Amino acid sequence: MLKTAVRSRPNTTAVVERELCCYCGACVAVCPPQAILLLDAHLQIDDEACTSCGRCVRVCPVHALSMAGRPR
Ligand code: SF4
Ligand code: SF4
Repeated sequence: MLKTAVRSRPNTTAVVERELCCYCGACVAVCPPQAILLLDAHLQIDDEACTSCGRCVRVCPVHALSMAGRPR
């Protein structure tokens, strides 16, 4: 059976503004599909795994995350 992700903003994915990110890890903790990986000072978002729920955007204390169009 095909799995269909529930997307609150379809065709968008979370993107990080690296200059603002302070690597607190809050976004990693709230991401349901675990699409965010934080390794030392490198935050990586798997846009294939991202379900566009927006939780990470809401939790980021420095507003470093936003939803943007998916790369084609
Ligand atoms: S929008 Fe949701 S699924 Fe995508 S990276 Fe943020 S918390 Fe994870
Ligand atoms: S919540 Fe914001 S500041 Fe914290 S690691 Fe994620 S993007 Fe960086």
